[in-house]
Amino acid sequence: MATPHPRVYFGDRIVDVAEATLGVATSAVLYGLSVYTVFPVQVDGSRRSAFRLRDHFQRMVESCKIIGMDRFADEWDYDRFVSVATELVAANAPTEDVFVRATVHVDESIAGTRVRGCHTTVSMFVYDAVPIVPQDGMRLKTSTWRRIPDDAIPSRAKVNGAYVNSVLAKQDAIDAGYDDAIFLDGNGHVCELSAANIFLVRGGTLITPDVSCDILDGINRRTLLTLAAEDGIPVVERTVDLTELYIADEVFATGTSAGVAPVFEVDGRVVGDGTAGPIGQALRKRHAAALRTDELHGWITEL
Ligand code: PMP
Repeated sequence: MATPHPRVYFGDRIVDVAEATLGVATSAVLYGLSVYTVFPVQVDGSRRSAFRLRDHFQRMVESCKIIGMDRFADEWDYDRFVSVATELVAANAPTEDVFVRATVHVDESIAGTRVRGCHTTVSMFVYDAVPIVPQDGMRLKTSTWRRIPDDAIPSRAKVNGAYVNSVLAKQDAIDAGYDDAIFLDGNGHVCELSAANIFLVRGGTLITPDVSCDILDGINRRTLLTLAAEDGIPVVERTVDLTELYIADEVFATGTSAGVAPVFEVDGRVVGDGTAGPIGQALRKRHAAALRTDELHGWITEL
């Protein structure tokens, strides 16, 4: 388990972590009514650079809009988000790469099951950038828990309460001796892992479920699609059958906290030759480099 670094942004101030507490009667606590993102900050000496910060902020705005947390967009803009992130990271002066978790909490008390107009509080904390899945070949198991569909709790909205679905799947996978779970939708099509997007390679083509397959529209997923297209790798976003994973040449997962992580086994079947494949490895390198330096896409924000 990771520990937050000592200084935390909460309620418009930077405070000690012990002071950043939400009330027991808030909707954030009662219903998991909070929207969040996790973005990476690369630390090279005194240089601190965030990756695709604008996209993370935009996804939070969109998540809030879907859920009806309308006060966030009224009270926050991107410049404010950057300046808080800058101040917070500086306050903790990390010496290694970190992740920053930014959350918009509905902190109205005993508000019932409603949201519009409710008061929100933003928190941000920093923690060590330790990957949440093995980087040297994951073993995955299809979950018996199905992915929550867009017409129940949208995966597109990164809302805390929805992560009960991920916890159920991940815990089952760990209990069964696997590293993570593969979520299917109600029709048996592949969605994603518990907290990462999934890619497969078949005959040199990179394939991933499209954004209407009950997935989170992952920022690293978008990044890989862009990098692959630039490298001349054919890219297809479409519905994916589970059995396609069984016969894929390569499978890998992407996410801020997952990195670009190769998958060596799916439901007891060896993927490809059981080692990290060339397309996944090339994209992993390209992605790692883009996190630190990017002259083409405007993905880096110096904090
Ligand atoms: N899917 C889910 C369910 C996630 O929680 C995450 C992690 N945020 C991802 C995919 C990957 O998204 P990103 O690349 O934006 O970190």
